[in-house]
Amino acid sequence: MNHKHPIEPHVTPEHWAGESAPATPQKRAVVLLSGGLDSATAAAWAGREGYALTALSIDYGQRHRVELHCAQAVATAFGISDHMILSVDLAAFGKSALVDTAMPVPKCRSVAQMGSGIPSTYVPARNTIFLSLALALAEAREADAIVLGVNAIDYSGYPDCRPEFLTAFAQVARLATKAGIEGKTVEILAPLVTLTKAEIIRLGLTLGVDYAITTSCYDPAADGRPCGSCDACVLRAAGFAAVGVLDPHIHPGRSCIQPA
Ligand SMILES: [Zn+2]
Repeated sequence: MNHKHPIEPHVTPEHWAGESAPATPQKRAVVLLSGGLDSATAAAWAGREGYALTALSIDYGQRHRVELHCAQAVATAFGISDHMILSVDLAAFGKSALVDTAMPVPKCRSVAQMGSGIPSTYVPARNTIFLSLALALAEAREADAIVLGVNAIDYSGYPDCRPEFLTAFAQVARLATKAGIEGKTVEILAPLVTLTKAEIIRLGLTLGVDYAITTSCYDPAADGRPCGSCDACVLRAAGFAAVGVLDPHIHPGRSCIQPA
C-alpha cells in the first residue's frame, strides 16, 4: 500500500483484498470514529494497514446521539483502548438540522436530489473542526496519519467531504504543526473517498466489520432506531441492497440501539 499519497483516491477494494499483511505495524493513526458505517470501515482498513489506532469521537450536540454509543461499540470491537470522546458544542452555533431539532431533517430524497445543492443537515465547517482536533491529537500522540471515512460519491453533497478539501487540509497539516515543520508530516488518509456505498460495505465485510453496531441515521427514534428515510438511511439501504445482504443494524437485538 502506498502510504505516501495523502488521500489515496484511486485505490479500490480489489487492490486491498489482494494485499499481504502490513510491514509497518508500529505506525500510529488517529481515526475519526463517528459510530457510522463509513468511519468503522475506515478504521478497519487502517487496522489492516498495520496502524495502531487512537480513536477520536466528537460529541458536538448532534441529535443522533446514538452514534456515540455506536462509536464506543466499534472501538471496543476493534480493540481500540485509546478512545477519546471530546465535547465541542456545535449546537451553540446552530444552522444545521443535525444540531437544531427545530429544523426538519430532509426525508425521502432520491440519490439524484441529494446531488443537487447542500442540504440542511450540513453542519457549518464540521469536518474542518474535526480534522483540526484530530490533527492536534495526532501531533500530541506523534501519530503518522489521520484516517477518516469521508466519502464523495454516495453522500449528501457536503463540501468538506470532497478530495479538494482533504488535499487542502493535508497542506494545513504540513504548514501548521511543529511536526510538519520538522518533517514528520501527519498524513490525511481517506480510503473511502471515491468508493460507492456498496463498495464501502463490500470492503468492510471483507475486513470483518460488524455493521450491526454502526448507525447512519440523521434522525433516529429515541431508542436509536433508524428513521429509514433520511439521506443517510436511503444511501445505506441502497448500498446494502446493491451488495445483496441484509443490513444487520435494522435487526432487533443485533445493534447498538439503546433501550428507551
Ligand atoms: Zn434516517
